[in-house]
Amino acid sequence: MSEQRVPCVEGLFGEEDGVATLYGSRCAGCDTPYFPKSAACHNPECVESKMEDYAFGGEGKLWSYAVADFPPPPPHKFDKPFTPYAMGVVDLDCGLRLIGQMVDKAEDVVVGAKVELVIDTLYHEDDKTFTSWKFKQI
Ligand SMILES: [Zn+2]
Repeated sequence: MSEQRVPCVEGLFGEEDGVATLYGSRCAGCDTPYFPKSAACHNPECVESKMEDYAFGGEGKLWSYAVADFPPPPPHKFDKPFTPYAMGVVDLDCGLRLIGQMVDKAEDVVVGAKVELVIDTLYHEDDKTFTSWKFKQI
């Protein structure tokens, strides 16, 4: 019996045929991307806030990262024993900059590396595999 894969937050991201997608929004007036979705544009130079749903994904470049080498406090969940990991800040080619856990071991992470958005295991609980978006060096 295989474990059920469940998003750690419903409606925030998805995975279809192995392709990872983040469900955000973009202002049609000024092209500013938002993730998670935003009800209004926050660009002070935008003349007309026209929000529409937008799916982000694909590849990008690792702008910077930090290593989490101690367990996060509750309510964060993780598989025990805790394994240190890198949190990356990535500029996706589609224009969105966001934070995500790196799949690669912390000692292997390189600033400037090309990365791709993936959906990967965050933790296991109640015979379920909870997933989140992450980045993987390519
Ligand atoms: Zn705007």
